Amino acid sequence: MRVIRLTVLFFTCALLAVSLQSQEQPMSSSPKPSATAPWMKASSDKLEAELLKKYGEGQRERIQRGLRQVAEFWRAEDGDAAVFEDFVRTNFAGDQATLDTVFTRFQDLLEQLVGHMHEIGRTFRQQTDLDLGPILPMDDVFAGYEPSAHVSDDFFQNKLAFVVLLNFPLTTLEERLQDGPKWSRRQWAEVRLADGFSKRIPADVNLAIGRAGAETGSYIAQYNIWMHHLVDAKGQRLFPPKMRLLSHWNLRDEIKADYADPQNGLAKQRTIQQVMERIVTQTIPESVIDNPGMDWNPFTNEVKAAAPAEADGAPKDVKVSDAREPDTRYAMLLTAFRAEKLVDPYSPTAPTHIARRFDEDRELPEERVQKMLEQVVTSPQAAQTAKLIEARLGRPLEPFDIWYNGFRSSSKYSEAELDQIVAKKYPTAEAYQKDIPNLLMKLGFSPERAQYVANNIIVDPARGSGHAMGAEMRSEKAHLRTRVEKTGMNYKGFNIAVHEMGHNVEQTFSLNNVDYTLLSGVPGTAFTEALAFVFQGHDLELLGLAAPDATSEALKTLNDFWGTYEISGVALVDMAVWHWMYEHPEATPQQLNQATVQIAKDVWNKYYAPVFHKKDVILLGVYSHMIDSFLYLPDYPIGHLIAFQIEEKMKKTGAIGPEFERMAIEGRVTPDLWMENATGKPVGPDALLDATQRALTQLSK
Ligand SMILES: [Zn+2]
Repeated sequence: MRVIRLTVLFFTCALLAVSLQSQEQPMSSSPKPSATAPWMKASSDKLEAELLKKYGEGQRERIQRGLRQVAEFWRAEDGDAAVFEDFVRTNFAGDQATLDTVFTRFQDLLEQLVGHMHEIGRTFRQQTDLDLGPILPMDDVFAGYEPSAHVSDDFFQNKLAFVVLLNFPLTTLEERLQDGPKWSRRQWAEVRLADGFSKRIPADVNLAIGRAGAETGSYIAQYNIWMHHLVDAKGQRLFPPKMRLLSHWNLRDEIKADYADPQNGLAKQRTIQQVMERIVTQTIPESVIDNPGMDWNPFTNEVKAAAPAEADGAPKDVKVSDAREPDTRYAMLLTAFRAEKLVDPYSPTAPTHIARRFDEDRELPEERVQKMLEQVVTSPQAAQTAKLIEARLGRPLEPFDIWYNGFRSSSKYSEAELDQIVAKKYPTAEAYQKDIPNLLMKLGFSPERAQYVANNIIVDPARGSGHAMGAEMRSEKAHLRTRVEKTGMNYKGFNIAVHEMGHNVEQTFSLNNVDYTLLSGVPGTAFTEALAFVFQGHDLELLGLAAPDATSEALKTLNDFWGTYEISGVALVDMAVWHWMYEHPEATPQQLNQATVQIAKDVWNKYYAPVFHKKDVILLGVYSHMIDSFLYLPDYPIGHLIAFQIEEKMKKTGAIGPEFERMAIEGRVTPDLWMENATGKPVGPDALLDATQRALTQLSK
């Protein structure tokens, strides 16, 4: 599933990279933005008159905008009035021919810069990414090195960033949504060019964000629960020794797995729910976290030293105590919030972290996302699906059933049969490489297009399960990393390879065939994932086997719907918590704890209680992403909606090939504009809800 792609907006890479560097520098006071120099106004007025006289009335708007944008980011260190004036006089492109040259030059050279930086990054990661023998300690350092870390700073320092700001428009999301549909492709490319310089974040602010990321990440990474040490009132243990589950992912997955345990499954699930609630409320005893040395009854909260006979890991050196975790979870979240908030004054077109996530990263207004998620959680399909789950379970729903995973279809073919077919077909990675044109033709690409794309994909043996790594310049190729065992490829590997191939095909078209490389790519991860899933969904046919039948399809749809229903609520909690933090910037961890618990309850009571017939559940607050991923969670439900829209459209089209290419070359415009072009409608939940309705009907047959 993993797709590795450096974004064309290289400052993002720079931001990421900073987080990998030294965490030890003390915060210094950053130069404040917009502390406009006293001479700025007079200089700008003088230059406006001068440029107007030189280039004419037709350039007035551009002159004013350029001066405003440069002034906004200009700092004392960039020079005095004379430097500013000289810079503007020399670099304002006042006629179309010069502007065209500036545009083309930036487009070509940035492609080279980003492309080669990406090439270096790919090569530096080769030893850790590919199945090439032992990894030495230095290989990890190479893999973590980010060559473009200082590009953004460099470009402000040498004033190339100011050349862009002087000549091309910064835009808000509102403008992109309102005027974007009327813009020419060239205008869109100019907007994307300027986007790359819409912030000038001081190094110490980036460092603070990096530190917050590292701190919260390590807090979450060590948040394990030792399951064998969970005991009930009678001292009974439900879980096997050595089972160490990372919150929340492994705990949630264990709830899913427990549906297959007819004897103890329900008791296990109830116990895990209890553990999760203690994490959210922070009534979990601190001494039991990641500690196999304590036995804990999560219902009574009683803690005892584990008997030596039950030892299944190295106990922590802490006192036996039921003292609760002191709101560390929320202290971490506040650390994240306060670090992100430092960016606010340096980001004029998106002045809060919430705005940066929605307006810039997602380019979907928060209110619309909120509405879409509410449409999912209040849909009649949710209640109907819940009824169906109750019938399948033979009991009323319990809160943890938001993670019900019983919509599984049984395949016509056993995994062993499939493994055999695949291993015979693809004994080596080269065999798969050779077959790519053939596979693409089966998906409806013309022989010419199939060969063209295949020529742009290099297959490498992956160390892990596989991933796709696109190129960032046209002279490079996309890489498909796939796992091939000594005995040949197995079915799981093939299934993943087909998915990654979908990414590679998108990457090839959206870089090599898009009209402006400044627009290369797709609007966001969800789009390339959706396109990759379209490929993956046809993997059996690519092996010459029968496609899944209508019942299997319906089960898969309900599984996706139920997952979207669950994660929509989680996302709504994440969003509300960030708003609360912005409204209470001085809050204590304890206050944030109380607020989060209340928000989780409110979202549950409003949307889930009517379906589950139980109030005040706080499970929606347990996701670890809330703490270490800084408002990332809404991406998941949005991703599901986008995937359904694209898949439904593909189903109606029949031949995937030409449709896939048509969609991919639209490039990096707003998600709505991309989706309008692809399917005739903006991003929304209708496709998912319609498909769910059809699935419910199919299963009631
Ligand atoms: Zn993927």
